[in-house]
Amino acid sequence: MSFDPANNIQDLQYFGEFGGVNPSISDSSTYTFLSAKTMFDTFEGNAEGCYLYSRHSTPSNLYLGQALAAMEGTETATVAATGMGAITPALLQYCGQGDHIVSSRTIYGGTYAFLKNFTPRLGIETSFVDITNLEAVEQAIKPNTKVLYCESVSNPLLEVADITALSALAKKHGLVLMVDNTFAPLSIAPYKLGADIVMHSLTKFINGSSDTMGGVICGSQEFIDQLRNVNDGACMLLGASMDSLRAASILKNLRTLHIRIKQHSHNAMYLAQKFEADGLKTVYPGLKSHPSHTLFSRMMNPEYGYGGMLTIDAGNLETANKLMELMQERNLGYLAVSLGFYKTLFSAPGSSTSSEIPLEEQAEMGLTDGLIRFSIGLDNDIERTYQMMRQCMIEVGVLS
Ligand code: PLP
Repeated sequence: MSFDPANNIQDLQYFGEFGGVNPSISDSSTYTFLSAKTMFDTFEGNAEGCYLYSRHSTPSNLYLGQALAAMEGTETATVAATGMGAITPALLQYCGQGDHIVSSRTIYGGTYAFLKNFTPRLGIETSFVDITNLEAVEQAIKPNTKVLYCESVSNPLLEVADITALSALAKKHGLVLMVDNTFAPLSIAPYKLGADIVMHSLTKFINGSSDTMGGVICGSQEFIDQLRNVNDGACMLLGASMDSLRAASILKNLRTLHIRIKQHSHNAMYLAQKFEADGLKTVYPGLKSHPSHTLFSRMMNPEYGYGGMLTIDAGNLETANKLMELMQERNLGYLAVSLGFYKTLFSAPGSSTSSEIPLEEQAEMGLTDGLIRFSIGLDNDIERTYQMMRQCMIEVGVLS
């Protein structure tokens, strides 16, 4: 394969101040200058290699950004305190009063709420579309549309965006294609497929230990410089900067991402196949029954699999809740939002992570109240996990 994101990360080499095998952490919020002139030049963005103030950038944040840019194949990247702290400034850097965004309607609830409820206050309107219907996407584009926004694999419905086709549409209409790749790191490389900007919540698979929040925007040097500009950069001025200690810890976890993703994907595929064979309504892009299975297969880096996320339909919310409580009691995972942990996490998105989406819109997009979203863990013996989950399903009446 010509583009291997894990090789690209591995090929970077950094040393600590005293020859440490990990880069030193820049534990400072501000930086000294030997001359006042260099300080002035740094403010103007003209002093390569100088640091100013940690909301702007820090050596630790730059190391992490560099590794994530290598992973996505972009020129550079900038990290942020959270995923939302990356997504919101990226959108606001491009869009202002009178601009329009075309967005997938199945996106993370927080991003949906930002576009639906918050950006209209700034004069930015969004049309939400079925991202798998390219005709509908094109029809929604207006003369004032600036951004086409989607998730590579959507939260929580696991719809797959045809990034190559969306990129062609974006180019035809002069739009910027922004892709949130939180659900499919390594498996899908959106920039290589034609996206302009790739974002992640690092809080999830990339950090992988559910102890840290983080976000990243991967793109061109020109765009990242704009975001960091002291006069009008949305990252610099909105202030959701990552702390250096966190950047250092995420960089260390990033080094095992390729191993973890393979195991997440292996386990999720195993369970999805078993659940489907048992007659459960199961959604997983690795299943042939998934409407975008062929599309995902065409876009993916095959060795990393179809990712760790799957959904099943337990029929109704009450049964879904019973099942999740029982699985937690049996220590099969945690009833918790978020994803990408070593342990399986499950939640009912309709009443949690997607509750910002009004009920009638949830129904329209196929988000049923019995839907359980699983982030499958790194379990060593997935057959044992399956047997125990199956037993729980029988006890709550999801399976007979
Ligand atoms: N994007 C996706 C797909 C998510 O699932 C989430 C969080 O759940 C976010 C973005 C937001 O990330 P964070 O919680 O780190 O702000």
